[in-house]
Amino acid sequence: MHFPGAHIISVSQFERSDVERIFDVASAMRPYAHRERVTKVLDGAILGNMFFEPSTRTRVSFGCAFNLLGGEVRETTDIKASSLTKGESLYDTGRVMSGYSDIIVMRHPQAGSVAEFSRASRVPVLNAGDGPNEHPSQALLDLYTIKRELMSRQQGIDGMHLAMVGDLKHGRTVHSLSQLVSLYSNIRFTLISPRELRMPEEIVEELRQRGHEVVETEDMESGLTANDIVYLTRIQEERFANKMEADLYRGRFRLNQAIYTRYCQPNTVIMHPLPRDSRDDANELDNDLNQHPNLAIFRQTDNGVLVRMALFALTLDVADQVDKHARDVNWYTERRF
Ligand code: ASP
Repeated sequence: MHFPGAHIISVSQFERSDVERIFDVASAMRPYAHRERVTKVLDGAILGNMFFEPSTRTRVSFGCAFNLLGGEVRETTDIKASSLTKGESLYDTGRVMSGYSDIIVMRHPQAGSVAEFSRASRVPVLNAGDGPNEHPSQALLDLYTIKRELMSRQQGIDGMHLAMVGDLKHGRTVHSLSQLVSLYSNIRFTLISPRELRMPEEIVEELRQRGHEVVETEDMESGLTANDIVYLTRIQEERFANKMEADLYRGRFRLNQAIYTRYCQPNTVIMHPLPRDSRDDANELDNDLNQHPNLAIFRQTDNGVLVRMALFALTLDVADQVDKHARDVNWYTERRF
């Protein structure tokens, strides 16, 4: 795809070569994200960071990524404080807000909303999650993490065995990640979820059509065996009619040290998009795995900054200029990464 000026709305926009290009640029961002060098390549540029749904990591890491490239961040976070509550259309909001920023990142509770907004925008729009639909930047950082974890085991993405666990119906991260992974070859997907929360049929169909093996199961124990990656997700309570309905599924599938030791192969990488639901009745990923070397959840969050820097650098067409506007840092930065 042609990155400069592009909206990034869905992983279906990418070919495998686009993903590899993003990963190469992300890796080149490491000295900046790790605070060895600073760059001012986006000096004067403004990011409109519009989050109309709760977020910590995605909002802050997009903002941080933009700052690390030298740009300024303006935040709009409360849907109730915006004119959308006065009946303004997403189209009008998009047209207006794009006059105030050089690029926009947007999260919104409705599927398709970010695409609608982008049609009116005069600047690139990056989808930071549109309801239960998609979360492309999360999928990219997840796959970047998978690539690096497997590389450290002398393995590649092609041919890997990936298990996804939890609320696969409403989880936008698994929707985007599975489709992104399907650009590679010969993957075995094991989809572990309650029957009612299965991965949408059209996605499963697409994975199969692309030649991958897909196993759907409600049996976590058998599903966990022989995987390179286990990707856990939270029950997406906010997508259910009420809490009681979500409670039916909460805590059904959990991974802790004992279960890991018993069912997973010893080098299985453990991933989660976060936040993990640490309440006792949920606890899909137990704290007793916190020191486990194969727990990659905080490597995922660190990689998120690199990948988001790459998305900005590519869509604003400065990927080749980052080093030209750089210098070493002069403050203490040891031991952070
Ligand atoms: N943070 C991820 C998302 O925004 C995962 C989650 O909320 O469970 O989709």
